[in-house]
This record gives sequence, C-alpha cells and structure tokens, in this order.
Amino acid sequence: MSRILQVALIGNPILRERAPEVPNPEDPRIQILINDLLATMGGVNGVGLAAPQVNESVRLFVMQSRKGELFPNAPDVPPMEVINPEVLSESEELDRAWESCYSMPGYKALITRPAKILARWQNRYGELIESELRDLAARVFLHELDHLDGKMFLDRMDSISDLHAKMELVLAREDELR
Ligand SMILES: [Zn+2]
Repeated sequence: MSRILQVALIGNPILRERAPEVPNPEDPRIQILINDLLATMGGVNGVGLAAPQVNESVRLFVMQSRKGELFPNAPDVPPMEVINPEVLSESEELDRAWESCYSMPGYKALITRPAKILARWQNRYGELIESELRDLAARVFLHELDHLDGKMFLDRMDSISDLHAKMELVLAREDELR
C-alpha cells in the first residue's frame, strides 16, 4: 500500500543538502520509498519528484515524460525510479522552457538546460541503465538531479525576470483567448 507523502517546501534545509548515495537499491525501505514517491507524483499529476522533497535525503527520484501543451515533442517515458543518477555527457545545444517545482508551488520559471543528455542510473533491482534522454525527459532528469545536490530551479535562472506566478500565465492565456 503506497502513501501520498508530504512535500518539503522551499526554505526547508533538507532541500539544500547533498543527498548520499543509495548503497543497496533492493533495501525494503528504498522499495517502499520508491512506491510512495510514484504515488505522490501521480497524485499531483507531476513529471518528477526527488526523495529530498519528501524529507528523505538519498540519491533517488522518480520521473516520467509525455507530450503536453508546453512540451509537444516530449518523448514518452513511463513513470520510473532513478537511483544514484549520473550525467555522462550533455549536448551543447540548449533548450529554454518552463519548469515548476512541488517545493515552490504557484510559480514557473524559464530555465535553460542542455537539450540532450547521456545518463546512467540504477533501477529498483540495482541494474545499471544507460540511456540518452532529450527534451522534457532530459529536463526533468536534470531538475530532479539538482534536488539531490541541494539545488533548486531558482539557482539555474538566467534572470529573476524569468520567474512567473502560474496564475499570471493563466491570466495571460485568458487575455489571448479574449
Ligand atoms: Zn523540483
């Protein structure tokens, strides 16, 4: 039975720590944490959630990717767990797109990140996975990996003027439709 966990919000010191490696992905406590992270991410219809965001400082996150209004070319990546992630290489080509974060509700920011990455991680059975990720999948992977290093998307902003209230975007959209 998985649980919906409470999310740590910006200002909570756990979001600023470097999380330690997961020594054994098959540890039953890690299995439970993965299930709870997947349930919590699904509960809010999100694309990524890192363990420190639910007050567990370990190198583990869950993510998914699918096409949407803001990411029409996103690859389909079903919900998956990512343990002890590493980025092996990043494309020189950059993308600039909207990001939001459960730990900072109500806001979105335009963030520049590599368009493609080659990444390596372990799954819940401890198997090593190496994969090229692009578009939304690369963006989510890098956003969640930042959480494991105590970084927030705010730290990646080119300019503070790239920060928007989500409500402002809704109002702008309504203006466009009018
Ligand atoms: Zn986040």
